[in-house]
Amino acid sequence: MVSTTAPTKATQVTKVTNTEKTAKPVTKKVKKTKPAVPEILAVASEIYPLVKTGGLADVVGALPLALQACAVHVTTLVPGYPRVMSAVRAQPESKVILAMTHFFGGSVQLWSAQVAGMDLFVLDAPHLFEREGNPYLNANGQDWHDNPIRFAALSLMGAQLAWGEYPELNYQPDAMHVHDWQTALAPVYLHYLGKGKHRPKTIITIHNLAFQGQFPAGIFSQLGLPAWAFSTEGLEYYGCVGFLKAGILFSDEITTVSPSYAHEITTVNGGMGMDGLLRALHGRLSGIVNGIDTDVWNPATDSSLAQTYDVSDLQKRAVNKHAVEAHFGIAHSDAPLLCVVSRLTWQKGMDLLVSAIDAIVAKNVRVVILGSGDAGLEATLYAKQHQHPTHVAIHTGYDESLSHLMQGGCDAILIPSRFEPCGLTQLYGLRYGCVPVITRVGGLNDTLIDANLAAVNAGVATGIACHEITADGIIHAVERLVQLYAQPKVWQAMQTAGMNTDVSWVNSAQLYKQLY
Ligand code: ADP
Repeated sequence: MVSTTAPTKATQVTKVTNTEKTAKPVTKKVKKTKPAVPEILAVASEIYPLVKTGGLADVVGALPLALQACAVHVTTLVPGYPRVMSAVRAQPESKVILAMTHFFGGSVQLWSAQVAGMDLFVLDAPHLFEREGNPYLNANGQDWHDNPIRFAALSLMGAQLAWGEYPELNYQPDAMHVHDWQTALAPVYLHYLGKGKHRPKTIITIHNLAFQGQFPAGIFSQLGLPAWAFSTEGLEYYGCVGFLKAGILFSDEITTVSPSYAHEITTVNGGMGMDGLLRALHGRLSGIVNGIDTDVWNPATDSSLAQTYDVSDLQKRAVNKHAVEAHFGIAHSDAPLLCVVSRLTWQKGMDLLVSAIDAIVAKNVRVVILGSGDAGLEATLYAKQHQHPTHVAIHTGYDESLSHLMQGGCDAILIPSRFEPCGLTQLYGLRYGCVPVITRVGGLNDTLIDANLAAVNAGVATGIACHEITADGIIHAVERLVQLYAQPKVWQAMQTAGMNTDVSWVNSAQLYKQLY
């Protein structure tokens, strides 16, 4: 059990050896007077629409806009990946506000920019972030060897902005909100290096506890933290360095992305080694369900659709269904078209789908899959496509536009996750009348009303829940789907109830505001 007591020795400010203090304000100072509304510094490793590998980016991109409507201002610090830098440089208003010659092994600049309606700080550190492709993986699909250093640098910059290291920036946030292990060290740096300085409230959001940022103990010496920080009351985690563990320990509030997941991670089964710590800190832990950007995800205006529609003219979805069938090269039929838009991984239950797929096809349900991930699963799904060419089709890779078209044309979306902190694809499904078929875990459990008899009779059902997380559970849910689909009025009522569900950020943004 990790004690929640902060180390007492950390009273003096530790010298940051690898971040030589050569911060030279570039002549133009950032003109940021403290706004009347609360100022939040968000720190994140990805942000939609600039860089996205999963739901984290959607949340980091959408929440600031939703908070703006609640009179909360967010500035988000992100890494200067190539795509981010080209978007930043394309804006004439973007400017360098800080330059340093030695920051975790290289020269860096901090930019201030406004892109896609979002206020950004961008850490332009070519030696850390100027790499094409995935933010975390090299071309062989392996983690970049220096990921701990890359994201420690981002986190330290976040902490320094939070405590006001650079007074010339005239920036002092009221709270710092960090996301996942990649930025979890920001509250840790604030704790160990920010003594006697401005101390904003800190919030860490766990988007997926499976990714913990656990690294060999040898990297500790490169983090610029005092030696005593490597202890059970600090960064030590099962003999390694634990970024997420330490971030959790030193944040004032811990949130995760659904109430059910907030409970699951305090259990031995769902805690992934961190349940003891999370039980000890349960007073700081809460679950706030994600919303979606209802402008980006709007079937009435979505330019990725072959045909836009709204809840009053659902029959128009047929045009999109034809387009999906054409894209995947399967003939049109009136049989249900079930889609999967997912990372192809064990977490997402894709191996269960493989086991269930013959039985699904036997019920004359077609399955179209968009995803990438585990090479073995990809190969097995291709084999299933080969085995059932009229009923199974897979498109590997990442295709945002196709994902919209699938939500707008398929009858249902299958999300058989073993665990799911929140899940976004079921929310898109609700918004698009693409009925979610889910397992009862995490945010899936919190955002759907299962089509049991009572819910169907009351007209409130919005999805279909598997009775267990197994291939049999999926097959049984698909059987129920076939029965419900055969009753057009019932099916349409489910689509309508889903489309009328509020999946926006409005409620959740208010909850974050209260937390800040
Ligand atoms: P996770 O973040 O665990 O992968 P979420 O459901 O929270 O799962 O978010 C996944 C996001 O990524 C959704 O926006 C989904 O539409 C998108 N997505 C996943 N795989 C693909 C893909 N292959 N192509 C396009 N979008 C995808």
